[in-house]
Amino acid sequence: MEGSYDVIIIGAGFAGYTAAIYSARYKLKTLLIGKEPGGLITEAHQVENYPGYKKISGLELMQKFEEQARECGAKIIIDEVVGLDHLTKEGKASNFIIHTSSTKLYESKAVIFASGTKKRKLDIPGQKEFESKGVHYCATCDAPFYKNKTVGVVGGSNAAAFAADLLRQYAKKVYLIYRKEELRCEPMLADALKADPKIEIIYSTNLTEYKGSKFLEKVMLDKEHNDSKELAVDGIFVEIGGLPASIHAAKLGAELGPIKEIIVNSKCETKVPGLFAAGDVTNTPLRQGIVAAGQGSIAATSAYKYVSGKSMGSGW
Ligand SMILES: Cc1cc2nc3c(=O)[nH]c(=O)nc-3n(C[C@H](O)[C@H](O)[C@H](O)COP(=O)(O)OP(=O)(O)OC[C@H]3O[C@@H](n4cnc5c(N)ncnc54)[C@H](O)[C@@H]3O)c2cc1C
Repeated sequence: MEGSYDVIIIGAGFAGYTAAIYSARYKLKTLLIGKEPGGLITEAHQVENYPGYKKISGLELMQKFEEQARECGAKIIIDEVVGLDHLTKEGKASNFIIHTSSTKLYESKAVIFASGTKKRKLDIPGQKEFESKGVHYCATCDAPFYKNKTVGVVGGSNAAAFAADLLRQYAKKVYLIYRKEELRCEPMLADALKADPKIEIIYSTNLTEYKGSKFLEKVMLDKEHNDSKELAVDGIFVEIGGLPASIHAAKLGAELGPIKEIIVNSKCETKVPGLFAAGDVTNTPLRQGIVAAGQGSIAATSAYKYVSGKSMGSGW
């Protein structure tokens, strides 16, 4: 056993770091285990709606969160949680055992899932063949490879709009291909994209296949565009949302909703005593940083109440 903690937090994004700050300030022995430091927002080249910062890159914002969590006394390690056991003693729930991909074992009285979502893929022919050879899932990481090239972005949400917004700074042409009739991203961003002659939005259309030789050369569409179902592109960025990383919580008995999100109440409690969840992995009504951070603080407060047995006053 590597160590025994009051609280172990799984995830190094808005929710996880905030939970770590609160948990450490409650003087709980706190460990945060995160696979990708900073989480999903590190893909955003510019964040303009996180209060306190008019403009900041996602990476820089998360570096500030991490620094604060460390300064408050939380231990942070980069590793992947691959399994959890919930020990029971004489019929009563007791500590959790956490297994990581580096074969380390940790024990904890409470666990907070702040594990976010995993990117969804299109699941069409050619996917495996062209992944990283023209098919991408992170514009921040890969946009610079497409200087003066033609690219497509699949999706119509904020994430897709962000990707198109970044890609237009490099590519000579950006197709935004969306299966619905109107974009559902922030109206200000939609207006900016629609006003740029470099960007062409193809509505009510799905991709059906990736094609090329060594690298991606074109995609097939389920509807004609300029009299053809073929669209020549050098790269495609898929931004069609995510699936909550909830499998390990479900195995412990946490209830999941229709898109496999962890169901929590207003105190970020799951149905399993000692198991809490916060951020995009939950049944949150809004998948945004500010909400994930807020839920992280609530989850840590619930964990504090659970571990210490102390009353948190009215409403808790
Ligand atoms: C391109 C883009 C732009 C965005 N722009 C904005 C914006 O401007 N403003 C805004 O508020 N929101 C924005 N969002 C949404 C925002 O990124 C998310 O709402 C937020 O990151 C959710 O935080 P989280 O902590 O719940 O999860 P995440 O940030 O997804 O973090 C999850 C963490 O859990 C880790 N993890 C998962 N499974 C395991 C495991 N088994 N073991 C260990 N670690 C694990 C991951 O590695 C990661 O560190 C954007 C999203 C995208 C994709």
